[in-house]
Amino acid sequence: MNPRPPATDDEYRERLTPEQYHVTREKGTERAFSGAYWDCKDEGTYRCVCCDAPLFSSDTKFDSGTGWPSFYAALDSDAVVTESDRSHGMVRTEAMCANCGAHLGHVFPDGPRPTGTRFCMNSASLRLDASGEVIDEDEDQDGAG
Ligand SMILES: [Zn+2]
Repeated sequence: MNPRPPATDDEYRERLTPEQYHVTREKGTERAFSGAYWDCKDEGTYRCVCCDAPLFSSDTKFDSGTGWPSFYAALDSDAVVTESDRSHGMVRTEAMCANCGAHLGHVFPDGPRPTGTRFCMNSASLRLDASGEVIDEDEDQDGAG
């Protein structure tokens, strides 16, 4: 079962810093090289800062040189959803938390092998869970979705 996201806007504001709120709820982008995780090489699971759903593994994190934490794959194909984003005069692919809809960043088709996909994320959207706890996707099959 996925964790419960905040129910109200007030609850989001209570749980998140102003920058986390701006990025995840208002589709903002943190400044490059400013976030907590762009240069982070710690092992663990990157979770959604809003709802705690597991999104990325440090195993798929790579140094993209962009100043944002970058991954070549999501932890699970169902963990991150994408949508065409035509804001700011560009056509990009927006990445969102599948569990709560939080804005995470954008996806580009210029990543490394094996996927060729680059998930360009905001540190403000993520929380690194370095507990070493292994996420077992076979547990808690609730059949939803
Ligand atoms: Zn979420």
